[in-house]
Amino acid sequence: MVSDHYPYDSDHEQADAGNTSFSRRDLLRHGTAALIGGGAAVLGGAPAFAQAGAQAAAPAKGVFADWRPETAGRKFRALVRYRTSLDVQTLTLNAIHPRQVVTRVEAAQACYTMLNALNPSIPVMNAAIFGHGAIGIVEEVGPLVKRVQKGDRVLIVVTGQCGECFQCLRGKAANCQAGFNRPALPAATMADGTPVIGNLGGFAELIVSWEEMTIPIFSKHPAVELANLSCVSMTGLGMTMVRAPIDAGSNVVIFGAGPIGLSAVQGARIQGASQIIAVEPIRYRRDLALKVGAHAALDPNAFPDSAALITRLREMTAPQTDRPFAGGRNPAAGGPDFVIEAVGGERFVPRAERYAREPNGIEVLQSVYTLCPGGGTMRTCGVGHPMGTTVTFGAGGWSNSSKNHVPGNLAGVQMKRDLPRWTRFFETGQFDGKSLVGVAVPLDRWREALEASAYRSAITGIVTFS
Ligand SMILES: [Zn+2]
Ligand SMILES: [Zn+2]
Repeated sequence: MVSDHYPYDSDHEQADAGNTSFSRRDLLRHGTAALIGGGAAVLGGAPAFAQAGAQAAAPAKGVFADWRPETAGRKFRALVRYRTSLDVQTLTLNAIHPRQVVTRVEAAQACYTMLNALNPSIPVMNAAIFGHGAIGIVEEVGPLVKRVQKGDRVLIVVTGQCGECFQCLRGKAANCQAGFNRPALPAATMADGTPVIGNLGGFAELIVSWEEMTIPIFSKHPAVELANLSCVSMTGLGMTMVRAPIDAGSNVVIFGAGPIGLSAVQGARIQGASQIIAVEPIRYRRDLALKVGAHAALDPNAFPDSAALITRLREMTAPQTDRPFAGGRNPAAGGPDFVIEAVGGERFVPRAERYAREPNGIEVLQSVYTLCPGGGTMRTCGVGHPMGTTVTFGAGGWSNSSKNHVPGNLAGVQMKRDLPRWTRFFETGQFDGKSLVGVAVPLDRWREALEASAYRSAITGIVTFS
């Protein structure tokens, strides 16, 4: 039973791929014990994974026949979402896959993207640990893990960089296919035996991750600040530094001064932008934008409509001269060199101040397009626009106006290349990580972290572990 279903996926065993994966439905039907062996079976004899691997393919014997996962059977606390409940439970860690890593979490950030968990009317049928990333110290690596070592300080990220798939090989690691091709293994078990998907769940004392999503960063900087780099700050920096990096001396308009937008403000500053304007309806976030590097911060609600806002932004970013042969621009080509969107759709009405005429983020996307001049660059990263919503562009302009649109999962960041060096920005003070720490609480106060993020009462909600 165990070996039949064990999703052994070593590169050497492609021939077994057809019959070695199991679906989440299988998981629920058979339970963790049947599939994985459970803590008892693992601790009682040869690891279930080693047995499975040995039967799946010959190389397994030599590679890890004697492997005993050290962390299997460990008890740990985690914020678990199951059916309509979301609560802290004590779980038992399963034996990891040979390509997985166990990390003791130091801090994890409550990303706005994940906050559907606060809505109990949306049940989930497979128990999972909340979160999608963290920072911590590696406690164990499987025997097939090559690039991460025990004791490493790591960021765990939602999209990794395997270095071997088609997307990685063509330099588009932000679209790495590993995440789609790794099975959703139960990392742990509830007291009643219910399997719990643990991959990437950062709101837990321990996190299990695949090697390619586990990025060593070689930094001693405070975890509470670096936790943001596992998602929001990485995305904000990415929009200013990769795929279409901001040129020194550019002017930049950034819609949204949440944690992504504020990271983009800082990225623009580090890149040497000459003018950075943030557009943000919530006052304390405008103040933060000014603090971390914006030269101006506008409240969109202070304008009667988006056209008036765009007119003002064009005035503010007007060329120094309209003498076209003295380096100036025609008025029609005026406007910011870079327009960045860090807004997305609204899932929770903010308790700080109400945003806007249009909560779905569509008006902002339209404004980004309208504001961007020919030859300019638009970066977008927002998510959560309701299904079926659309943005409309004039066909000729869209086809031929040379407005460069660069969207992208996590802004196109290449994790292994970018995250270790971007931690230096935190260490040197070039990136103000402290100002992006909003509510930081221990696991038992997880609700404060999630609600701070959901209702935007603080810039971020972070859970820390001592
Ligand atoms: Zn996120
Ligand atoms: Zn890849």
